[in-house]
Amino acid sequence: MTVRTRFAPSPTGYLHVGGARTALFSYLFARRHGGQFVLRIEDTDLERSTAESVNAIMEGLTWLGLDYDEGPFFQTERFERYQQVVDDLLERGLAYRCDCPKERLDRLRDTQMAAKVKPRYDGHCRGREIDPEQPHVVRFKNPVDGAVIVDDLIRGRVPFANTELDDLIIRRSDGSPTYNLTVVVDDADMAITHVIRGDDHLNNTPRQINILKALGHEPPRYAHVPMILGPDGKRLSKRHGAVSVVSYRDNGYLPEALLNYLVRLGWSHGDQEVFSLDEMIALFDISDVNTAASAFNVEKLDWLNQHYIQHGEPKHIARLLSPHMGELGIDPAEDGPELVDVVMAQAARAKTLKELAAISAFCYRDFEDYDEAAAKKHLRPVARPALEGLRAELEMLALEDWEPETLHRVVERVAEELELNMGKVAQPLRVAVVGRAASPGIDVTLQLVGKDATLRRIDRALAFIDARAANA
Ligand code: GLU
Repeated sequence: MTVRTRFAPSPTGYLHVGGARTALFSYLFARRHGGQFVLRIEDTDLERSTAESVNAIMEGLTWLGLDYDEGPFFQTERFERYQQVVDDLLERGLAYRCDCPKERLDRLRDTQMAAKVKPRYDGHCRGREIDPEQPHVVRFKNPVDGAVIVDDLIRGRVPFANTELDDLIIRRSDGSPTYNLTVVVDDADMAITHVIRGDDHLNNTPRQINILKALGHEPPRYAHVPMILGPDGKRLSKRHGAVSVVSYRDNGYLPEALLNYLVRLGWSHGDQEVFSLDEMIALFDISDVNTAASAFNVEKLDWLNQHYIQHGEPKHIARLLSPHMGELGIDPAEDGPELVDVVMAQAARAKTLKELAAISAFCYRDFEDYDEAAAKKHLRPVARPALEGLRAELEMLALEDWEPETLHRVVERVAEELELNMGKVAQPLRVAVVGRAASPGIDVTLQLVGKDATLRRIDRALAFIDARAANA
């Protein structure tokens, strides 16, 4: 048997982290078993489905690198097929037309509610002949007794009594098919062997199994993934901040970090925290997924993101960093240092690419203001001789000597001449060229900033010191 899984989002919004985790689990399961992963867009809700949302979902999947083998299939392109199936069920007496007016259904519901029983259709039209030309819906004839056992790969055996399930509508009065029908037809037609989805669908599963059986299909295996909770213990949603996958990209997260984070939400392998995609594929087993909901924890995601920034291939990180520099109006290809050198110097200092861009802007353009505390501490009149000495020496350096070793020696020499320790020279210089008291080693920092900008910024620092002294 070839394993076939699917991701079946309804395009009524962006791809959120919960959906992405479901997609990831389905993807990993298919890859692990050498199977296929299918993308199906469940766009039958014409009012809420949008093309932008389809694009946003695909954009999210592409960014995460969750490539699908087949699809996207669109349910709106399969209406004829659904009609065929409903007609066939009608013909075989496994479904029936119902013209119960709304008032009757409302009354039924009210009576049931008053009697404290679960509202359900009473099968009134089961044996009635209804003119197909008159307005009606079509209902599935659910078995009236017995039970459906959902043998879930995550939750184990979950029994449902058929008396709990009513004859659900499979075709609306406007002729459109309903969710439970389309899912079943598609899962059967697409030869899906494993349905991995959110556990909000668990209650649909016995209904879907009954329909599948009526159609003469062996139901697939099901795995219902528990939900993701926000820090307050409630289902993760927009209220908790960014939940769209693409917003993580825009905020400077690496796809490998988000994937790694998502796979660990509800799944573990010993105490290993870091997984490459290949390792996930080799190790992931859907039956190891927890039954309990998992809580979204941004600190852990940040930790993983920092890990991948620091240990990733610098060229790869530079490629991902480039648009974040662009956001700051910097085009690293234009002039200034190679972005990959900036990455190598700075990778340990940032949790996100956005932060990395912000703390690296000084390599490409003059900063606006000094960090107040850093300037107060290091740009004082006592630092003047050091900065002047440095300026004189640095100015004389030939461009080909503008490299860490020589630069380091210059700073060292100036410190020696003034009988100051290195810090007393390097810190004012750092604040002068970076605007802050933190940066890579001073030699690497100067190299990244370049000669012209270094001299210009030292002049600016000297002027700043004088202006402060004059105002004091
Ligand atoms: N379209 C459904 C949703 O987005 C998923 C259906 C399924 O996976 O069976 O919630």
